[in-house]
Amino acid sequence: MTMIVMRRMGAALGLLLVLPLLGGCGPGVQRGSRPLVVTSFYPLQWVAERVAGRHVEVVDLTHPGQEPHDIELTVRQTADVVDASVVLYARGLQAAVDQAVDRERPRHVVDAAAVARLEGDDPHFWLDPTRMRAVAGAFERRLARVDPGHARDYARRLHRLQRELTGLDRSFRRGLAHCRIRTIVVSHDAFGYLGRRYGLRVAGINGLSPDAEPSPAHVRELQDLIRREHLTTVFSEELASRELAGSIARDLGLRSAVLDPVEGLDDATAGQDYLSLMRRNLTTLRKADQCS
Ligand SMILES: [Zn+2]
Repeated sequence: MTMIVMRRMGAALGLLLVLPLLGGCGPGVQRGSRPLVVTSFYPLQWVAERVAGRHVEVVDLTHPGQEPHDIELTVRQTADVVDASVVLYARGLQAAVDQAVDRERPRHVVDAAAVARLEGDDPHFWLDPTRMRAVAGAFERRLARVDPGHARDYARRLHRLQRELTGLDRSFRRGLAHCRIRTIVVSHDAFGYLGRRYGLRVAGINGLSPDAEPSPAHVRELQDLIRREHLTTVFSEELASRELAGSIARDLGLRSAVLDPVEGLDDATAGQDYLSLMRRNLTTLRKADQCS
C-alpha cells in the first residue's frame, strides 16, 4: 500500500516539475471523477470505449496518426498508467508501455496479447475479430470487478460488441470463401492472424514492424511470387510508407491498394472505427483476390 502511495506521489511530483515546461502544448485532459482506463493503442481503446461507455474515461497512449510500434511515453502518460483503474495493453507490441507497466505495476492490468493467445512473435491479433472478442471479454470481467456498480451495463455492452465482432467474422468467412487468389502481398507483416483465420497466405514486404527494410533478395522473391500466383494487387497501408509497395506494383504493372492494419486512426480515417475499417479491408481483399 505504502509503495503504491509513494509511487503515486513520485509520479505526481514528476508531473508538477515538468508541467510548467510543457506550457500549453499538452492535450489538457481534464480528469474527472470517473474511473480512468488507460489503453496502449487504438484497437484496445475502441474495445474499452465500447465496453465501458460513459462510465469511465478512456485515455489512449498512442495519439492519432502515431505509429504505435515505436511510441515513447511522456511524464503525464506515465502518471496515467500509475493512476489508471485498469490498464489494457498488449505485451510485446510497444516496449515503452511494457516498461511502464513493469516499473509502475498498476493493480489492474489486462494483457491483450496473453488473452488473444499470440502465436510466435506476431502481435497483430486484432485483425482476427474472434481474438478481439476474447480481449473484450477479459477487459469487461476486469472492469466489472473494479467498478461493480455498473457491472450489469458492462455485461450488456459487451454482449452487443461481441455480437458485432461475431458478425464481422462471419462476413470475412463468407466473403473470402471463394476467391481465385489466396495469396496477399502486404507492406508490413500485420495480417498473419487474418490470413490464418480466413485461409489467405500472407507475404510481407517489410517485417513485423513497418520500419524494417527488405533486402533486394526478398523483393525478388516477392516479385516471383506475384508472377507465379498472378496477383492483381500489392497492398500498402495508411500509417506506414507506401513507397515500396507502390514501386513493386508499378514494376509489375499491378494495382496498389490500401489494406489498413487498424493500428490507429489518422486524418484520413478520423471518421472511421475498427469495424468500418475492417469492413473496408474485406471489400478491398475481395476485389483484389477476385472473390465471388
Ligand atoms: Zn504492426
